Amino acid sequence: MRRPEDELAALRNAGLLRELRRLDPAPLPCVRLDGREIVNFSSNDYLGLSQHPEVVRAARGASECHGAGSTASRLVCGSLGVHHELEARIAGLKRTEAALTFSSGYAAAVGTLTALLERGDTVILDKLCHASLIDGARLSAATMRVYPHNHLGKLGRLLAAAREAARPDRRVLVVTESVFSMEGDRAPLAEIADLAERFGAELFVDEAHALGVFGAAGQGLAEELGVQERVTIQMGTLGKAAGAAGGYIAAARPWIDLVLNKARSLIFSTAPPPGQAAAALAGMNVLASPEGDELRATLHRNLAQFAALTGRTGHSAILPVVIGDNRAALAASRALLDAGFLVPAIRYPSVPRGSARLRVTLSAAHRAEHLEGLARALGGLNTGR
Ligand SMILES: *Cc1c(COP(=O)(O)O)cnc(C)c1O
Repeated sequence: MRRPEDELAALRNAGLLRELRRLDPAPLPCVRLDGREIVNFSSNDYLGLSQHPEVVRAARGASECHGAGSTASRLVCGSLGVHHELEARIAGLKRTEAALTFSSGYAAAVGTLTALLERGDTVILDKLCHASLIDGARLSAATMRVYPHNHLGKLGRLLAAAREAARPDRRVLVVTESVFSMEGDRAPLAEIADLAERFGAELFVDEAHALGVFGAAGQGLAEELGVQERVTIQMGTLGKAAGAAGGYIAAARPWIDLVLNKARSLIFSTAPPPGQAAAALAGMNVLASPEGDELRATLHRNLAQFAALTGRTGHSAILPVVIGDNRAALAASRALLDAGFLVPAIRYPSVPRGSARLRVTLSAAHRAEHLEGLARALGGLNTGR
């Protein structure tokens, strides 16, 4: 029989071993690691809301009022006022009839895709879709098709083939991220929506890395591109720019009701704690407020400054520095850590084999000296570029 020790050794030899690193808090944008204060360029807290006083106060207040736990599944007795308020707020921002929240974005993706897809349906995903979307598609019994990253021609051909093969009552669902989590680039959402409409397919868009970063009130890239109404299911996480935790979908009422009836990650799981939902609601409120606009402007100024310093123009708050080899990426990450910057080495299976990279994420909490310091340290690395 296979021993876990041997599997771990194989991972280590391939430069693919993962280990937990204990971090302690420090004022944003820093963290403490082994007693040293280092600048964090790895979190998805794009606006710094995880430490916003209103978000923290909401978590504390709801815990004191309603307890630390929600005690049961949403469908049993865990559906509290704060969950309903949060869903109304999300639906309002996304301009949909309804929204539904889950304990995480992962649970939202897996629960929703398995709820909506059955045998005979077709799900068509971008090659670089997040693991939660791939897992949801795989767990469903639908036929799964993958198109090369952002390749509209291939997507069109897959849609035509799916429509031809499927009975008219079969569902065809296109799944993409709006901002890709490891590339930091954007999907051509308007063109994808055109194709989906042309072939009678539904469109599912994961806005995990666009919420709070794009859109007039931080709704995401679909809003910024004016295609929010053309997306069947808008999905995202409350754990990144919203500063809390949880996942959501926003859609027309029948879609939400169907997912509520069928999503096993929602039905068979205890509802998110009141403090989590309250923090997420406060985070959404800040994100969509004039203060959110200011934080977004600061973030975009930081992106422009970092591009000027490094010559790497970003299309989002995520800037990959592709290195290729796993061990070389780990060594580069370690060198940056020695210089006082936390930048993770991202390896397979988070990215395709042979494309290991440093993944820099910027936030509104970074100041000019942090950006300058990281740009200098990156310039001193031999990253093959
Ligand atoms: C982080 C992420 C998720 C999962 O969200 P969690 O709330 O962290 O579970 C889903 N999709 C994408 C693209 C993500 O980056």
